[in-house]
Amino acid sequence: MKRLLDALLPPACPGCGREGKVVCERCLAHLARRRGEPAGVPLGLAVAQPAGLVQLEWCCAYSGPARACLHALKYDGELRLVEPLAEQMAARWARAGIGGDVLVPVPVHAARLRQRGFDQAELLARAAGRMLHLPVAQALERAAKTAAQHALSRRARAANVGGAFMVKPVQPNSIAGRWVVLVDDVVTTGATFSGCAQALYASGAAAVSGIALARER
Ligand SMILES: [Zn+2]
Repeated sequence: MKRLLDALLPPACPGCGREGKVVCERCLAHLARRRGEPAGVPLGLAVAQPAGLVQLEWCCAYSGPARACLHALKYDGELRLVEPLAEQMAARWARAGIGGDVLVPVPVHAARLRQRGFDQAELLARAAGRMLHLPVAQALERAAKTAAQHALSRRARAANVGGAFMVKPVQPNSIAGRWVVLVDDVVTTGATFSGCAQALYASGAAAVSGIALARER
């Protein structure tokens, strides 16, 4: 019901509160900050390429409007944000992405899926897939309960996702021999992407890359 009412109300930009658009032009410019940058992880970043990924791309830092938009999407269920956010990801990938046969969303925890009723990474992947003309395979699932990542230290996070993901039994054909591009809303240490990559390679993926809307340092 709340979502139905929200859909009837004029949107307000989560980044600045301005009414009228789901995201205003100024906040969109923040989200597009890295659009023209060269591909790959810039030198001097504390965390380089996550293990197992041939390429990692993201659109902007996880701060300001990006953080506000993702909070509005995930916690307020403002699903009108899916299109503009996915458009940023598709534009960055179209500019910098190398290869890629299929988009695979990083699966949300089952408990959170039940609570929210949607998986933001899947929605972003489906919208970006349409824009990029790439198929989307919901090929991964979480293998076991993993503690909430944000509650753990950086090192504990890296260990926490080892073996945490598996390729769904019905999906190996969409993965074997394919170049997978993982899709998530935020990347922090890259440990989640690495955990997914491990499972995908075990199912015969030819290569694994990743795209996120925002990167948290
Ligand atoms: Zn704004």
